[in-house]
Amino acid sequence: MDKLSSVKTTKEIVERYGFKFSKSLGQNFLVNSNIIQKILDGAQIGQDDYILEVGPGIGTLTKEMAKLSKKVVAVEIDKKLIPILSETLKDNENVEVINEDILKCDVKKIVDEKLNGGPIKLVANLPYYITTPIVMKFLEEDIPVSHIVVMVQKEVADRMKASPGTKDYGALSVAVQYYSDVDIITTVPKTMFIPQPNVESTVIRLKSYTQPKYDLIDKDLFFRLVKASFSKRRKTILNALSTYGLEFTKDEIKSALEEANIQETRRGETLSIEEFVKLANIMKKKST
Ligand code: SAM
Repeated sequence: MDKLSSVKTTKEIVERYGFKFSKSLGQNFLVNSNIIQKILDGAQIGQDDYILEVGPGIGTLTKEMAKLSKKVVAVEIDKKLIPILSETLKDNENVEVINEDILKCDVKKIVDEKLNGGPIKLVANLPYYITTPIVMKFLEEDIPVSHIVVMVQKEVADRMKASPGTKDYGALSVAVQYYSDVDIITTVPKTMFIPQPNVESTVIRLKSYTQPKYDLIDKDLFFRLVKASFSKRRKTILNALSTYGLEFTKDEIKSALEEANIQETRRGETLSIEEFVKLANIMKKKST
């Protein structure tokens, strides 16, 4: 593996460029080749793969992905990193760096124009202040992404992977698992980064379903129900749904729960995705 992944080389480069790490941009650079290898293995990168990376930093992971794949497009917000990336990736002709904010740029256009129209793999050590918006952007918008293999805060990974009835299970678990199959690849201690973050990290893999796994009539209603169910975790499902401001009366919700075979005294956090889907479909049919 390239020496970029070593503490010594990373420090040498950032010092030579007078680069100052920005906490607000979530800049914690990975300096451990074993973890990089686990990310590469987790993403199962092959010669035909088109990769999108968010936040290449000084290009440590980028360079390794470039060696294994067809092409890597790396979107980096910090313009101070661009000259560094020009140096570190100068020999990797299949890498293109774009100096933009991933949340503001048109990812679909990038995929169409620069990544063969997809399907792509999103592989990244994400900036932690926007982990969830980035992951949800890739899942929810019409972006052809087959795998998302990303380093995130351990507690976010735990929430993404959580099962019904556990303390970590919530709207994020349902949202992520609605779209994809979730695997934890490895946990990563703080000492694997410079500077060290305040939290432990986890590499997580989401494999998107190519065909929707659930037979849902109204996705918008489903997600509103999920949000409402988790909005007051101590309330019963009936109370949570009937006080959230949905367009259904308490009686309508009561009868929909009955029809879906969901006891009204249960808490939202115990409902499986299948149960949320069933409930949403029944409520949709009642409203039309
Ligand atoms: N990939 C590098 C590594 O593993 O060493 C750096 C990872 S660091 C955790 C996160 C990177 O995301 C930083 O380079 C940061 O500048 C970049 N970043 C932060 N916010 C961003 C945004 N909105 N769009 C694109 N890149 C962003």
